[in-house]
Amino acid sequence: MDGLISSPPVGAPIPAPGPNFAQHPALVLNADYRPLSYFPLSLWSWQDAIKAVFRDSVTIVAEYDTLVRSPSMEMRLPSVLALKDFVKTDQSPAFTRFNVFLRDKWECQYCEESFKTHELTFDHVIPRSRGGLTNWENIVASCRQCNLIKGSKLPKECGMHPARTPRQPTKQELQRRGRSFPPNFLHESWSDFLYWDSELDEI
Ligand SMILES: [Zn+2]
Repeated sequence: MDGLISSPPVGAPIPAPGPNFAQHPALVLNADYRPLSYFPLSLWSWQDAIKAVFRDSVTIVAEYDTLVRSPSMEMRLPSVLALKDFVKTDQSPAFTRFNVFLRDKWECQYCEESFKTHELTFDHVIPRSRGGLTNWENIVASCRQCNLIKGSKLPKECGMHPARTPRQPTKQELQRRGRSFPPNFLHESWSDFLYWDSELDEI
């Protein structure tokens, strides 16, 4: 993503660095107004967002209230951008923490209750100690309590089976899931996404 943006253009306003600005990532949409990527979610730092605006490579779709100022002008930090030129994207979703939660709709696959990101963890359906792998077919979202109860037992040993048999989703399935969440759910969770989007290999 950074490769799309080279150097800051002359005349771009340089906001004073502060803790506030770090909280203003811009969601990047492709030219068809779908997120460039859900997997991980396509986000740019406010610096890259402003550079792209000044390069005229994006359209501003929505803005934060936060202003940046230079001696000659002021502008609001973009919150949603759309690329002017369409970019072809990869079709297979990455195996990330966020995508597992999205596939499982933030529902514990054992008690089927809904949880917030920080209340959920992951469960190996077949425990690692029993040869279970960390992949789409063996990882499900689980609340901490169910995860604790299940421990290192096989589903048949504890009578705990995932509500849905885990499998790799298609990109389209994840996109549909993403649309079923209210926009502010995704917006407020952006900082979570940045952390949870790390590849899921050691948990
Ligand atoms: Zn549970």
